[in-house]
Amino acid sequence: MFPVEEIRKDFPILQRQVNGKPLVYFDNAATSQTPQQVIDAIVDYYSNYNANIHRGVHTLSQEATDKYEQARLKIQQHFNAKASHEIIMTSGTTHGINLVASGFGALLKKGDEVIVSALEHHSNIVPWQMMCERSGAVLKVIPMNDEGALVMSAYDALLSEKTKLVFVNHISNALGTINPIKDIIEKAHAVGAAVLIDGAQACPHVKPDVQALDVDFYVASAHKMCGPTGVGMLYGKEEWLNKLPPYQGGGEMIAEVSFEKTTYADLPHKFEAGTPNICGGIAFGAAIDYMNAIGFENIATYEHELLDYATAQLLEIDGLKIFGTSKQKTAVISFNLDGIHPYDVGTLLDKMGIAVRTGHHCAQPIMDYFKIPGTIRASIAFYNTKKEIDALAAAVKKAQLMLS
Ligand SMILES: *Cc1c(COP(=O)(O)O)cnc(C)c1O
Repeated sequence: MFPVEEIRKDFPILQRQVNGKPLVYFDNAATSQTPQQVIDAIVDYYSNYNANIHRGVHTLSQEATDKYEQARLKIQQHFNAKASHEIIMTSGTTHGINLVASGFGALLKKGDEVIVSALEHHSNIVPWQMMCERSGAVLKVIPMNDEGALVMSAYDALLSEKTKLVFVNHISNALGTINPIKDIIEKAHAVGAAVLIDGAQACPHVKPDVQALDVDFYVASAHKMCGPTGVGMLYGKEEWLNKLPPYQGGGEMIAEVSFEKTTYADLPHKFEAGTPNICGGIAFGAAIDYMNAIGFENIATYEHELLDYATAQLLEIDGLKIFGTSKQKTAVISFNLDGIHPYDVGTLLDKMGIAVRTGHHCAQPIMDYFKIPGTIRASIAFYNTKKEIDALAAAVKKAQLMLS
């Protein structure tokens, strides 16, 4: 049995009350909660060895540098990258995507094509639109179907020798759909295109192997996988990272600077201008350790049990419709109640201590597809329980009565 009660003791926030009720946190797809082990790593950093890294000769700076670089190695191992300099520390998924999009803006030319999917978060759409405006490349979209899955035959038809890059998410944050990324990557490579996978929503649930996937770029955020906000990772194949120009200029990313000519540092530093989120990077490493100690297989099995349980409970409610019904999905349930605005339901749930997200979930094209203003989204983590799902279902029923 999955030791959920033991695990919950690691999360101080789960003990608190909201509006006089025990907190039931189902907004994990927006950000996950933080275990004591990660909080301790943050406190330890600021209490014992806060210093700037990579340039100091003094003891604190060396300790901080060692810990920070150890975190990079943990990330490398976790994602099974071939080399640690293929891991670029970022401020999060959005930063990683903008870094790659900016670089491709310099490599692409008019008439080149790039492919996105209909299931994306705005942060995997907008940077590419900006890149297309600058380079003259054309953006093509893989459509989705009523289940919230990508139409793969349409993808096949979009691919050609004009295609230079494909960017899709591993798992949709709005619907929970797991995309067939292995297939997407293989087909893109067959026409000579590179692939970026937005793994922000996948990394809390699965352990991606970038070499087995043969993916060119993979991005994630620490705060969705039990780490702190403001830190994340970009994996890039060495050959690609060498081809891309630097994203930001500044300290740390240079080899030599003069007013005549500046040369850039080697990977990964070429893409890491300025003082990074040192504490955040170290805490990201602690979060990876924490999740691996529980085990991603165990997490996936337990979350799936919760997903099936929650789906069955919610579908018993008259007039409740779930959006995103692909067989390949993770623990995200997006739903609406007939004739009731999602925002009103979310507000009442909060009064009952239940945190869900309402709105378009930074994925307006998906809402447009279903012709709805938004959904109520309950997103599940491994520290949630069946009892909390019972509370959610009861609260949704109560809200429905109050609002109809
Ligand atoms: C959360 C999320 C993002 C954005 O992550 P940030 O941490 O805000 O940069 C991008 N894509 C998906 C699928 C997400 O779930």
